[in-house]
Amino acid sequence: MPPKHHNPGHPITLQLAQERVVAFSISALSTYALLPELNCAFDMGDCLLDAVPIERVFVTHAHGDHTRCLFRHDSLRRLMGMEPATYYVPAATVEGFRGLAEAWRRLESVRPRQHEPPRLEGLEPGAVVWLHRQLAAKAFAVQHTVPSLGYTLYDVRKKLKPEYHGRPGRELARLRREGVAFEEEVWVPRLTFIGDSTIETLYREPHVGESRVLFLEVTFLMDGEQELARQRGHTHLDDLLRLVTEQPHVLHNEHIVLKHFSMRYDRGTIKHLLRKRLPEDFMARVQILL
Ligand SMILES: [Zn+2]
Ligand SMILES: [Zn+2]
Repeated sequence: MPPKHHNPGHPITLQLAQERVVAFSISALSTYALLPELNCAFDMGDCLLDAVPIERVFVTHAHGDHTRCLFRHDSLRRLMGMEPATYYVPAATVEGFRGLAEAWRRLESVRPRQHEPPRLEGLEPGAVVWLHRQLAAKAFAVQHTVPSLGYTLYDVRKKLKPEYHGRPGRELARLRREGVAFEEEVWVPRLTFIGDSTIETLYREPHVGESRVLFLEVTFLMDGEQELARQRGHTHLDDLLRLVTEQPHVLHNEHIVLKHFSMRYDRGTIKHLLRKRLPEDFMARVQILL
């Protein structure tokens, strides 16, 4: 019998600030995170029926445990009469995914005009995707063994420029008619999702520490696995411990979700090691995705 926490069909539902996230993540097995209220998902290692109505899927990298059900998502939507979703992938992988989709179409004898291929969009670091007028996703570079992106969702709001504070509404209405730009945009980081990654990403992208919610991998936990973590482009518990003790100001997220543990550990070991080694005040903000 496989351990209970090795079942991608049984996701964990987390309530993190205003976010409801339905997620699963075990290394080499499967990773996905669904945000049904925001109509988006990160990775598609498996495709639950709950995932099917979601219209935007942000893919961190091409490893199979994160992408194996991308085209299953696409075909289930068609079967249920829904419009195609959009799949955002690292730009360097878009041709590979197109080839994969084409191979499936050939295997399933889909006639060329029967339906269009999946909507794939390649993104470079810095690219912005608008989910609606006040919510944007921004991609950033992630260090792993293959081209990888992380994504931060931002609430984008308009705010009065400081020099216009306290002006009466009548005057602002007049300024608006005259075309004066008295407002500025404020981007508030709401949720950051990092797929597989070394700790380097956190040093290079300090903005991830500002997000209200942060999803972070810690694949390897045991002593003697530090080199393995480096070779496979993953984070070791020692790396995370070093960051949070030497630079405690970096991660000041309200909620941190630790995920993507190696299949070699049982549930008790994961919980025990994280609680034993990471500082108590840090663990107070952590949810373990198990
Ligand atoms: Zn993975
Ligand atoms: Zn990977």
